Amino acid sequence: MESKRQTHQFKTEVRQVLNLIINSLYSNKEIFLRELISNASDAIDKLRFKSQTELELLADDAEFKIKIKTDGIARTLEVSDNGIGMTFDEVMENIGTIAKSGTAGFMEMLKQAQSAEMLTPELIGQFGVGFYSAFMVAEKITLVTRAAGAPKDQAVRWESSGDGSFDIEATEKDKRGTTITLHLKQADKDEPDFTDQWQIRRIIKQHSDYVAYPIVMDVEKEVPLPDEAIIKDKDGKPIGETKRRVVEEETINSMKAIWAQPKDEVDDKTHEEFYKHLAHDWNPPLARLHMKLEGTTEYDMLLYIPSKAPFDLFQPERKHGVQLYCKRVFIMDDCKELVPEYLRFVKGVVDAPDLNLNVSREILQQDRLVMNIRNNLVKKVLDLLTDMSAEDYEKFYEEFGAVLKEGIYTDTNKRNTIASLARYKTTRSEGKWVSLDEYIKRMQPDQKEIYYITGDDLNALINSPLLEKLKDKSYEVLLMADPVDEWAMQALTEYDGKPFKSAEKGDLALDKVEEAKKEEFKALFGFIKGQLEAKVKEVKASDRLKESVACLSGEDYDMSAYMEKLMRAAGQKPPEVKRVLELNMDHPVMAKIKAVYENDRDNAVLKDYSQMLYDLAVIAEGGKLDDPGRFSRLVSTVMSQAID
Ligand code: ADP
Ligand code: MG
Repeated sequence: MESKRQTHQFKTEVRQVLNLIINSLYSNKEIFLRELISNASDAIDKLRFKSQTELELLADDAEFKIKIKTDGIARTLEVSDNGIGMTFDEVMENIGTIAKSGTAGFMEMLKQAQSAEMLTPELIGQFGVGFYSAFMVAEKITLVTRAAGAPKDQAVRWESSGDGSFDIEATEKDKRGTTITLHLKQADKDEPDFTDQWQIRRIIKQHSDYVAYPIVMDVEKEVPLPDEAIIKDKDGKPIGETKRRVVEEETINSMKAIWAQPKDEVDDKTHEEFYKHLAHDWNPPLARLHMKLEGTTEYDMLLYIPSKAPFDLFQPERKHGVQLYCKRVFIMDDCKELVPEYLRFVKGVVDAPDLNLNVSREILQQDRLVMNIRNNLVKKVLDLLTDMSAEDYEKFYEEFGAVLKEGIYTDTNKRNTIASLARYKTTRSEGKWVSLDEYIKRMQPDQKEIYYITGDDLNALINSPLLEKLKDKSYEVLLMADPVDEWAMQALTEYDGKPFKSAEKGDLALDKVEEAKKEEFKALFGFIKGQLEAKVKEVKASDRLKESVACLSGEDYDMSAYMEKLMRAAGQKPPEVKRVLELNMDHPVMAKIKAVYENDRDNAVLKDYSQMLYDLAVIAEGGKLDDPGRFSRLVSTVMSQAID
């Protein structure tokens, strides 16, 4: 345990974030209180969870609450909780570095936005930068905290003026939990006075009404004196005081569990406020699902689909959004057991009265009730998405489509339903999303397969030489530009009886390539293959190309070019698989090369032409040349000859 007072510098990011918050949330200062209350409530949640197995942590202080105190003369505002508290190391870790989960996304956003003016509160609200927002109103913050289970003299005092450094030292604290004291700045004329009780009440009602623990304030009240304490004259009329002033704790928030109320008794506005509180989101939800399940097991479920994706949607450590309650008592946050990964954007509450309260996370996974709820939740969310208006669904899909599609790969039971919810841009959709059902309706009369191509760039995909013949025959091709599509397509082999076919793999068998012509080119192709031995496993006549001279394809079970790229990007080494070089026999260049070859098989230019054909195929699929310098030299030589 450190005991001397130490001064530390904030991490650079903290300073940046501080400036940013102070500048961009300027017009909405009062939200600092919501942030502090939400931290207090989180701290109590954590202790409640931990105390299920370590009951002694609660000691003689088992009545959870959050207390607010104001002092108009000293100009201070205090928020205390009897939650889990923090040790010295935890204070160092949590206050002074940004909440870790948000850091990467937040920094990314900082870079993208370039200036603080571009950052709206909506954006900032998605990150865990809550504590620092108090510096908008405080010139100094003092935090005193004692971890649950730590002795009285091992509390920690942290203090900072938000100017780049903080002081930290050991101290004493009577009770477990955290007290945060804001030494308020002088308020501007048009700003609320944060020491005014009525302002504090209003802010709590507005932003923190749903917090599950009482938020209390001391209020002075007049209460009637008990009868025997009142001095009366002989007629029984009181002569002295009949009332006295007392200070009482009053609970400000309603703590209403809106999920347990009948569905039609909760209006849109209430849902919106509750969602914002629950999801730490500033945007209203896109859709909601509120239901009570009755029968052998009974539970309430209130779920929301956000209208905007959070920045960390693809970060593995991000939190899930479904909280588990039992008879209105909070059990746990982030209940992964209730929601599959591919629905991780869903926020909400499940309240299951029959749940065994002492379950640990490990047991939860096998709990029959939990499994039952999970299956039902998945079904209801997929139904909700299926029944959404086209307009809303498109909004949803733009934000979360890539996440939902993970389910095609991971949830065999729901594979088909999720595939029916997938949307793709296509060679014929002009930028619009198309469902597989629509695709099938539009198939050409002689078309048997659903064609698709994967890659990371829509523009490169739509112009890929691999699609030339398909386009020529008016066969529509799905353009799959999400990394997840690669995995999804390994699992999804057919839809509605129609097989999928990758435009870059195997034979498309569109038109029969003339055998006689193939024979004519056989020797040349053999020569080119000899030149490119290290790179390609075969050189063959193409049935895909129309305008272009060359492309690369794979065999039916080969890895696609995009999959290879993804693996490299993830730091993995894809297995060495050689591709197939396809050449267009109808292209004038091929006829000319063939003439040169037949004239003089040892002509040195043939070697160069072989290289160039390969490089052209690589460029056409947006790939990287292994020797761009060589390509550039070859092309300039050919150009100078042509221009002559
Ligand atoms: P977030 O709440 O999103 O993590 P904050 O900036 O609001 O980000 O808080 C940073 C961290 O500081 C919290 O994650 C928590 O570990 C710690 N913390 C803040 N307030 C309290 C509190 N009242 N009790 C215990 N820990 C707290
Ligand atoms: Mg917080």
